[in-house]
Amino acid sequence: QGKLDLVRDSIGSYPDFPKPGILFRDIFGVLQNPKASECLFELILEEVKKLPSVEVVVGLDSRGFLFGPVIALNLGIPFVPVRKRGKLPGKVQQVAFVLEYGQDVLELQEDSIKPGQKVLIVDDLLATGGTMEASCKLITQIGRELVGCLAIIELIDIQGRKKLNAPVTSIIQY
Ligand code: 5GP
Repeated sequence: QGKLDLVRDSIGSYPDFPKPGILFRDIFGVLQNPKASECLFELILEEVKKLPSVEVVVGLDSRGFLFGPVIALNLGIPFVPVRKRGKLPGKVQQVAFVLEYGQDVLELQEDSIKPGQKVLIVDDLLATGGTMEASCKLITQIGRELVGCLAIIELIDIQGRKKLNAPVTSIIQY
């Protein structure tokens, strides 16, 4: 069995979670299977190494934190979190973004990324692209260079990638 098939078969699918009409893709199924997990990280690193000189990995709250640090560790570069409002200490930069109902704020610690550093943003899943788009804004807002966005899973019919101004890579597509 190929690596991609093993990873795909390990992703759980849950109809009507967390709300009716949503088919939730559960990436934790992959992490529960060590062989699938190993394959996924190999696939991720193959893709990341195709990108031009990533210097910082930014992971999105919260499942981006499962993948970002491993990628950063493998590349020998820093990992930096983007979190929901009120979770990060010290001075932060903020960006507001619109959700289905209401809005939310994402934050990044000031000085966490040095001027000129090339940034890769990582999250588990790209749906509408709203979360990724807001995070891209946060990076460009502080004048840092975005070289790519990585989603482990991409829901391609929704075309969230169209909202993003950086190259988008995904490992598994639905
Ligand atoms: P978007 O902003 O692209 O519409 O939604 C992406 C965000 O919502 C990601 O941070 C992702 O973790 C979460 N998300 C939305 N749908 C799913 C899903 O089916 N499975 C998982 N694991 N996360 C989801």
